Amino acid sequence: MTTSREIRLASRPRGWPTPDNFTLAETQLPSLSEGQVLVRNLFMSVDPYMRGRMNDVKSYVPPFQIGKALEGGAIGEVVESRANGLQRGDIVSSMFGWRDSFVSEARGLQRVDAKIQPLSAYLGILGMPGLTAWIGLKLVDVKAGDRVFLSGAAGAVGSVAGQLAKMRGCRVIGSAGSPDKINWLLHELGFDAAFNYKDGPVYDQLKRAAPDGIDVYFDNVGGEHLEAALSVFNVNGRIIACGGISGYNEEAPRPGPRNMMAFVSKRLTMKGFIVADWLSSMPEFLKEAGEQWSSGKLKMKETVVEGLEHAPQAFLDMLHGANTGKMIVQLG
Ligand code: NAP
Repeated sequence: MTTSREIRLASRPRGWPTPDNFTLAETQLPSLSEGQVLVRNLFMSVDPYMRGRMNDVKSYVPPFQIGKALEGGAIGEVVESRANGLQRGDIVSSMFGWRDSFVSEARGLQRVDAKIQPLSAYLGILGMPGLTAWIGLKLVDVKAGDRVFLSGAAGAVGSVAGQLAKMRGCRVIGSAGSPDKINWLLHELGFDAAFNYKDGPVYDQLKRAAPDGIDVYFDNVGGEHLEAALSVFNVNGRIIACGGISGYNEEAPRPGPRNMMAFVSKRLTMKGFIVADWLSSMPEFLKEAGEQWSSGKLKMKETVVEGLEHAPQAFLDMLHGANTGKMIVQLG
């Protein structure tokens, strides 16, 4: 028998979640049956979509259950194996985050190349957020010369999407929530313009940053950002709806943009997507992004918090904007 710690959902939040919504518990792991492995997690991810799973609402992923361990992306090391194809020392990607160790069937785990360092990159730039950025740009058919605006630009998805748009020959404008983030976008990631949305109305700042309008909006935020983008769009503009984090902690949905007639007058189109529908594109994405990352063309940043016991706070801090690039919890 092995003991492991896990973070469970203690209660469902109303509005912003708090540490009381989580509890740390110990659990006994079963001994291995044939076909199973014991994995010790090294890193886990905290992501905005987990906020939606804390609500008792059916969505594209099922809600977390009160009293049960949370789930999410994790990278771990196999410490014992009774499964063909996986051996002690292998590094695997799983959805068994929010716990120190777990026992699982080997199927459902993906072995990853242990030479990639840091291994946490598989939870960010080379993982789900990176694929989200890549597929989002593809779905909105970004082309050289497009003026592309991204909200949440200094986060896990936005920072990759902005860099990829730049590599595709676009003019790239980003918004984020602190001066340090804006510096990073402008001086390290090569954005053409960037503004801190907390400095004043998004519309005024976007209009100044994009004097020739925008052709594409990569929306991670919704709300005021979406309304501002609609007003600044050029004719035939395209929106890729990736997320709406400005509303995730609202107790009731806010009214939508007041300027929806822009869709008609400017002949706009808007497409939503869920990255889980595009997992078969992972190899193609990794081929492009992996090469760009290892050659230094694609840059990443992580905000790393240590210890499973601090994972709830890391999640809450991410929702409040404490991360630059990907928010990671280091466990091993
Ligand atoms: P992230 O950007 O790394 O972290 C969340 C960031 O949101 C925070 O750092 C904060 O940065 C920003 N934020 C929080 N409240 C905000 C507000 N009221 N207005 C503007 N910005 C706010 O997270 P991520 O993983 O890359 O996800 C970004 C978005 O993509 C989220 O909406 C997420 O739900 C979505 N997403 C969608 C898919 C999909 O399949 N469609 C997949 C992954 C992610 P600031 O300091 O800049 O405020």
